[in-house]
Amino acid sequence: EISTPGHEPRPVRAPRGPELTTLGWQQEGALRMLMNNLDPDVAEHPDSLVVYGGTGRAARSWAAFDAMVATLKTLKNDETMLVQSGKPVGVFRTNEWAPRVLIANSNLVGDWANWEEFRRLEDLGLTMYGQMTAGSWIYIGTQGILQGTYETFGAIAKKRYNGSLAGTITLTAGLGGMGGAQPLAVTMNDGVAICVDCDITRIDRRIAHKYLDTKADSIEHALELATAARDAKKPLSIGLEGNAAEIFPALLEMKAPIDIVTDQTSAHDPLAYLPIGIDFGDMKTMSEKDPQKFTEDSRNAMAAHVKAMVGFMDAGAEVFDYGNSIRDEARKAGYDRAFDFPGFVPAYIRPLFEEGLGPFRWAALSGDPKDIEATDKAILELFPENEHLRRWITMAGEKVAFEGLPARICWLGYGERHLAGLKFNEMVASGELSAPIAIGRDHLDSGSVASPYRETESMIDGSDAIADWPLLNALVNTASGASWVSLHQGGGVGMGRSIHAGQVCIADGTELAAKKLEAVLTNDPGMGVIRHADAGYDHAIDTAATRGVRIPMTEN
Ligand code: NAD
Repeated sequence: EISTPGHEPRPVRAPRGPELTTLGWQQEGALRMLMNNLDPDVAEHPDSLVVYGGTGRAARSWAAFDAMVATLKTLKNDETMLVQSGKPVGVFRTNEWAPRVLIANSNLVGDWANWEEFRRLEDLGLTMYGQMTAGSWIYIGTQGILQGTYETFGAIAKKRYNGSLAGTITLTAGLGGMGGAQPLAVTMNDGVAICVDCDITRIDRRIAHKYLDTKADSIEHALELATAARDAKKPLSIGLEGNAAEIFPALLEMKAPIDIVTDQTSAHDPLAYLPIGIDFGDMKTMSEKDPQKFTEDSRNAMAAHVKAMVGFMDAGAEVFDYGNSIRDEARKAGYDRAFDFPGFVPAYIRPLFEEGLGPFRWAALSGDPKDIEATDKAILELFPENEHLRRWITMAGEKVAFEGLPARICWLGYGERHLAGLKFNEMVASGELSAPIAIGRDHLDSGSVASPYRETESMIDGSDAIADWPLLNALVNTASGASWVSLHQGGGVGMGRSIHAGQVCIADGTELAAKKLEAVLTNDPGMGVIRHADAGYDHAIDTAATRGVRIPMTEN
């Protein structure tokens, strides 16, 4: 039962400002970030405690939420609260270096880690789905997906187009919750994007939210707008209504000058992908009427869609899968070249992971956007030579609307994150910031996740499914003094398919916090370096050698 008498759903909003409502800032940070995850401005379905990602929850029930809040309010500076899948199960006396909260969510023993068993246990009230940052209290809204998509297109620009997408045209589909970040991520990299969606309301919504610039009336019109912008080296994103399974092959047939091709339709669920020959308006009724036939038809459409993507690849375009399983669905329909193009992690993100780079994020516990403005400025001063970072921070400052507590995300790597953490801590101490800062990250990071369909797809040594790394990551962050540490299973890819860990540190301006920040924000990205060095990636081995990451088997 999510809701029980006396523990009913209600709007939750984290306290703001410099006054403590608990016995210390480490606990206060956990309390505010837990509450922030459930803020109606942040959570997708706050009444059912769902933050994002299907059923990713911040607490198992309203009674568990109330108990966690009450416990955090009285938790001492040498105590630790233990959370088992969204429910507080114990408080132990530890020490002031120890995390104030330790969290384990959705973990099941290997052979039992499937949806059926998980749902049985969930129905019994014994577990909950924690996703990545829902159950670990560091979700910051859609800024996260925008930045990740910006980073992916930035990596393509770097790999193939001299660092900028200016003068290139990207073709993609899917303008939904996550896919809707694609047009803005492409234009932020100075490129032109044609984005196909069969639902005109998604196109209009992205235009209204300024993620998409304009829409075209026809394929020809879209190409006209795209080539004109490309030739003028101007960024532009164009929505095009239609079925990607028809439009992609038509564009290929026309020999359209497309440079980059990907897709973010909801292909992971065949009932959410529009087959050929069905009007979008009839999609729901048709899928309910005969789900089996609909699945067959949508898989066949995906095969046509993926075949066109392979055609673009054969013609020289940069083509990649964006984590929606469209390759596997096309393969199931009998298309045998579906896996000819790679997933986005092995294609672009892995070299970043090799040097410990990944999504670093922070939130202003004051609730004051001025604090984020000041931290943005500090980041630019700390890393003046990083042009890519400067572009992101400047554009995020202009274009990203805050959801809940003001927050920022950017990618920083080994040797960089602790500099940012220490700087923010000084700014809290000096009063330049009006309250402490919570510093954390996604579980999707360089050394904190084992996920063979995503972050660890095609590791060069075949170690895709080795899950010791995220466990070591959680242990080392605990040993290094993080404010809370979490260990989850399943995340974005589903039950049984990943194991991942997270940490959050509170920069409260004290000397103790500075020591903890230095250790955690060095060792945590360091895990990414050693994990990839161990797998044999040269760039990781070089990074370890040049930046002084110790790896015993390479020392003699
Ligand atoms: P969503 O359901 O909100 O949006 C999907 C969109 O696809 C909808 O607007 C729908 O109208 C459109 N669509 C469906 N069939 C179509 C067709 N045949 N032609 C054109 N448009 C079609 O989903 P979302 O949250 O945007 O996520 C999209 C996909 O990306 C999911 O499969 C998700 O799992 C995946 N995803 C991957 C990553 C990653 O690994 N980088 C991150 C987030 C989401």
